[in-house]
Amino acid sequence: MFNTRTHPRLTATIAAVTVGLVLAAWPAISPVLVAWLKKNFEPLIANTSLWRISGTFCQNQWEKVYDWYGGNAYLLGTLGSTNVYGLTFLVLNSLYLYMDITGRPAALVKYKIQPDVNAPPVDHSILRKVALQLPITSLVTFVSICLAWPILMWRGCTFGRELPSFWRVLVDFPALMLAEEAGFYFSHRILHHPYLYKRVHKKHHELTAPFSIAAPYAYPIENVFSGVLPPLLGPLVTGCHVSTIWLFGCYGLYITVTDHSGYDLPFNFRSPEFHDFHHAKFNSNFGVYGWLDRLLGTDSAYRQSKVAARHSLQNGITPPSDIIRKSDKKRN
Ligand SMILES: [Zn+2]
Ligand SMILES: [Zn+2]
Repeated sequence: MFNTRTHPRLTATIAAVTVGLVLAAWPAISPVLVAWLKKNFEPLIANTSLWRISGTFCQNQWEKVYDWYGGNAYLLGTLGSTNVYGLTFLVLNSLYLYMDITGRPAALVKYKIQPDVNAPPVDHSILRKVALQLPITSLVTFVSICLAWPILMWRGCTFGRELPSFWRVLVDFPALMLAEEAGFYFSHRILHHPYLYKRVHKKHHELTAPFSIAAPYAYPIENVFSGVLPPLLGPLVTGCHVSTIWLFGCYGLYITVTDHSGYDLPFNFRSPEFHDFHHAKFNSNFGVYGWLDRLLGTDSAYRQSKVAARHSLQNGITPPSDIIRKSDKKRN
């Protein structure tokens, strides 16, 4: 029987081709899926007040944003996207940054994943070095979006005053996630080739225990190749509405900031352990969601490690370092 572990290159090729075929077929499949969902599920909720109120609320808010940019598709896509992502990045970072600068509150700081490395309060010279990179990253991202947007408009992404249906967003989302996972996984693995790692990606790996504003800490070429392009692959495939692109972009920022935060806070929807392990060990866990790592076996070191156990325990209130100590005691 074919073993994915003993044929890694063939498995990676098959995985890349399969993902490519699924995404290529998506524009043909998605209208059928949307129609099916609408026919079978909308009658069940169409008369509820939550459905009507939330639909009207979202549409009204979108119209305000749309009018604010004068309904200009290019301004919405470029300036609008940059404003939305910039604001989201600041909001998502605020609590983590406060904890990293002050080392308070102790009730949350105790959830530091690697408490012995870059312990809060983080050395201000390291924080300053990382923070100084942010204006460059923002400029590079803005220019990349300005250049990419005409391509998305040409592809047929919609920028209209009417929001897409809930069902269309629901169907677009898995395709956006799949495209991003494939784009990030393979671009990230390419960056780990010794030639590129030494010259490009090593900068992002300077921090073996990352903190939240270090998420985009990398050379501009990496910001474009592995930060901006993978999330834009999905819209290129689906031709989705600009509001869906923003929603997915904000979701992606939440993942990126959480993954680099260095804190496994209780009741967080996303566990940062997976990418934190990548920073600690370098040659494991290359993807965003872990799907391709699982398929291609690049997460085996992680799954055999003690920290993997914390994935399933992330909704408890025990600090990550205590979970490791408890599991060590059980073994002895
Ligand atoms: Zn990282
Ligand atoms: Zn890496």
